Amino acid sequence: MSVKALRATFGPLCHWCALPMDFDEPAGRPESATIEHLNDATLGSVRKQSHRRLAHGACNAARNAFRQQAESQFKAWIAERVMQADVPSPGFSDKHG
Ligand SMILES: [Zn+2]
Repeated sequence: MSVKALRATFGPLCHWCALPMDFDEPAGRPESATIEHLNDATLGSVRKQSHRRLAHGACNAARNAFRQQAESQFKAWIAERVMQADVPSPGFSDKHG
């Protein structure tokens, strides 16, 4: 589904901020309409056309950046949790007693 088709289906407003997007060339500017994949590969699922929406380039980029930031913070939290755990990690838990 192209930007043009998504615009015809969902309208000219950004999925995230609901402000009007810029459909003029050239694309790739912060206010340009970009295709947002609501069902990401990060969830382990296949990208589907039905989950595509339009969003500003700026909103799309910010979402990705915040998601990556959250993901790295979560991984750091997990690493700290594992470091502080008294029990062995599950991979080494076959020695009971
Ligand atoms: Zn936006």
